[in-house]
Amino acid sequence: MNIAGGNMAKYRGKYILDGLDEIPPEMLRDLDLAYDACKQLHDHFPCEMCGRCCHQANITVMDDEVERMASHLNMTADGFTDDFLYREDGRWLFKKSGRCRFLGNDDKCAIWEQRPLICSDFPYLVSKFMSRVYLSIVNGTDIDLSYMEDDWPCTPVIKKKIGAPIEDARRKRVTRSL
Ligand code: SF4
Ligand code: SF4
Repeated sequence: MNIAGGNMAKYRGKYILDGLDEIPPEMLRDLDLAYDACKQLHDHFPCEMCGRCCHQANITVMDDEVERMASHLNMTADGFTDDFLYREDGRWLFKKSGRCRFLGNDDKCAIWEQRPLICSDFPYLVSKFMSRVYLSIVNGTDIDLSYMEDDWPCTPVIKKKIGAPIEDARRKRVTRSL
């Protein structure tokens, strides 16, 4: 599925997979709209590499990411999952409490080039359960950014800039349905 700016939402959160045998095409298109809206921010995203977001819970690793991450660390897939991941509700999550185990003492990601999609897609804003941007677009509500701490350097920037791409996505959605 590829619409809008050509970006595709690969990670969709757990919520959308529960109770659905398959994701309906309409939902896929709306997820891609949400992803595209976030990618517009991503290209001009002023990340200060402070590492604050890397203290969050629920960093998800998709099945097809295990092999490349394990290989990067010269580990087998089984060794990597044993050491770093746990399985919950049918998906892999980083074993951690507090800061990510790949966050160095310098607050830089030690596996930056091979970090999970959920990290590299930020600010796509996917929680473990769902893209908050998707929910905002389809429900016509303000986006819930409650999981971004106020003192993260990027939070005020996202809060200020996310409204325009969401409005744009809503317009595209309406246009599509006409
Ligand atoms: S909290 Fe924001 S500014 Fe800090 S590393 Fe994460 S994305 Fe970058
Ligand atoms: S993998 Fe890297 S970017 Fe992702 S949470 Fe861990 S330290 Fe942060």
